[in-house]
Amino acid sequence: MKVVLDSLTKIFPPRMGKGEGVTAVKDFTFMIPDGTLVALLGPSGCGKSTMLNMICGLEKPTEGKIFFGDDDVTDLPSENRGVGMVFQNYALYPHMTVYNNIIFPLGNLKGKEKLTKEQMKERADKVASLVQIEQLMQRKPGELSGGQQQRVAIARALVKTPRLLLMDEPLSNLDARLRLQTREEIRRIQRETGVTTIFVTHDQEEAMSISDVIVVMKDGELHQSGKPQEVYDDPANLFVAKFLGTPAINIFEARVEKETLKIGEDTVLNVPGVRDGAVIAGIRPEGFIYDKEGGLKCELDRVEVMGRDISIVSKNPACEAPVVRSIIDSDERPKDGVKTVTFKLRPNKVHLFEPETGARIRFGRR
Ligand code: ADP
Ligand code: MG
Repeated sequence: MKVVLDSLTKIFPPRMGKGEGVTAVKDFTFMIPDGTLVALLGPSGCGKSTMLNMICGLEKPTEGKIFFGDDDVTDLPSENRGVGMVFQNYALYPHMTVYNNIIFPLGNLKGKEKLTKEQMKERADKVASLVQIEQLMQRKPGELSGGQQQRVAIARALVKTPRLLLMDEPLSNLDARLRLQTREEIRRIQRETGVTTIFVTHDQEEAMSISDVIVVMKDGELHQSGKPQEVYDDPANLFVAKFLGTPAINIFEARVEKETLKIGEDTVLNVPGVRDGAVIAGIRPEGFIYDKEGGLKCELDRVEVMGRDISIVSKNPACEAPVVRSIIDSDERPKDGVKTVTFKLRPNKVHLFEPETGARIRFGRR
């Protein structure tokens, strides 16, 4: 089911009526295509949970509308929206077995929708098999690992065959290995069921790896949306460029003179069509070519082995961070005793931004 968020704003009133109140979500418009997995990505406090709560009906928008398909659901009570929700802390009932936790939402069905015991068991078995916990049905949540508990929570969210699945940082309580494994499971379950899913995370790598579309937000506002690779390759502004990618993009104070990019005294790249003046230059780690003819000079700090690639860690006074991180092929490792490294740059891995606003400045044909 397609979901439309139309100019959503949520302002929490001030405590005791004093002060300004908190604008958690601001004029947010977005369409989630049917059957896709969308990751809502942003730093802590940017309004992700508030957004999910409005979509599932736990919070009422201050302004704006929410559509499921063509239906305006803005004023529809949560229980009638047909939404499954999974939280970070699993929120299972500790005294109930896994089986009873999973069928719990079916107990509220009334009238024509009411299910017999056998029908409930059939539903529970089906979702348990989907998330692969069939053998755990008689245990209590306390007897399960975190990853298993989260699978139970996902099964419970799916048992009513929701029109929409919402997941609020579902992997945050898992250790690194389980996080990886469970995120692949979520991708598989979403593909198998085809249920439209919104997955909230502050972890850019998680968002990029799992989703069809990422939506980057900050301070309650949408900054950019698109396929993960497209957003990474073509960031709309400095915030998005810095938020996506590990190692992070390297940020330099720079300037443009006669359509060439200068970092300190170094002439580093042609930037056709850009006006003279101060700019911020972001260079992705994979944008450096270690080359003795290269224009950008840095002082070598160390070389880190990453397997097939190496990371040359160096220093440059114009760089915002203490070190510049480049990733290059391990065959091109600097010789022992080298003190200064020079780089050519890959133009499509260099992004320029306005120093005041962080808006992207495009150059060449891009
Ligand atoms: P995220 O999930 O991205 O970390 P939230 O949606 O939880 O962010 O919060 C967004 C902003 O709204 C934060 O500044 C938070 O403090 C504020 N906020 C969230 N819920 C409430 C509430 N019930 N009352 C007042 N402020 C709230
Ligand atoms: Mg949250």
